[in-house]
Amino acid sequence: MSIAQNIAEITAKLVANKVKLVAVTKNHSVSSMLEALAAGITAVGENRVQEMLSKYPEIKAAGLTPEWHLIGHLQTNKVRQAVPLADLIHSVDSEQLAVEIDKVAAKLGKRQDVLLQVNVADEESKFGAEIGQALPLAKCISQLEHVRLCGLMTIAPYSENPETVRPVFKELYQLYAELNGLHLANTDIKWLSMGMTNDYMVAIEEGANLVRIGTGIFGSRQ
Ligand SMILES: *Cc1c(COP(=O)(O)O)cnc(C)c1O
Repeated sequence: MSIAQNIAEITAKLVANKVKLVAVTKNHSVSSMLEALAAGITAVGENRVQEMLSKYPEIKAAGLTPEWHLIGHLQTNKVRQAVPLADLIHSVDSEQLAVEIDKVAAKLGKRQDVLLQVNVADEESKFGAEIGQALPLAKCISQLEHVRLCGLMTIAPYSENPETVRPVFKELYQLYAELNGLHLANTDIKWLSMGMTNDYMVAIEEGANLVRIGTGIFGSRQ
């Protein structure tokens, strides 16, 4: 199936649930991205700052202005390059990183929207704050003037059967409800970013309102 057909099929499932789609374009060419944007994609997700930096001018030169989401781990020393371009950074997982984003955003006169990444399943191989650290960290982020916390993100462990990771999504939803209940000043809690190609329907059933889909749109990556 073509990129446009994939997008149409996925969008049909998302619209009824009012779920935002971020097309994950990592390792895919600018021409595939242009195809996706022509087919109605409004937000693209990149994993690495370097790749975002290299694609951004080409997309802009084509006259297109999608939202740019940075979904991969962000190193403190890449913040200076990421903040000018990113509309939403999904991967904030430490106070140190949040403080650095705040500094850079202040210099640019920008307020940087971010999500707090939580390592719900406590996998060693994954980034993200521990679940017990998440709310204290959210409070800390909410005190930064040039950062705006907009919600939570997680990457579930990979599983052939997405049902096995349903508890992970349930747990993040619970945390999201708690975070909402705190009514922290200077935040705009509205995104629960969970679900990828393999598990997004389960994530939506558990309350996701933003899904990040790569393979389901573009086919497998190199
Ligand atoms: C690659 C990636 C995705 C998309 O994964 P697919 O299985 O290709 O849909 C989503 N989120 C993050 C953080 C990723 O790195």
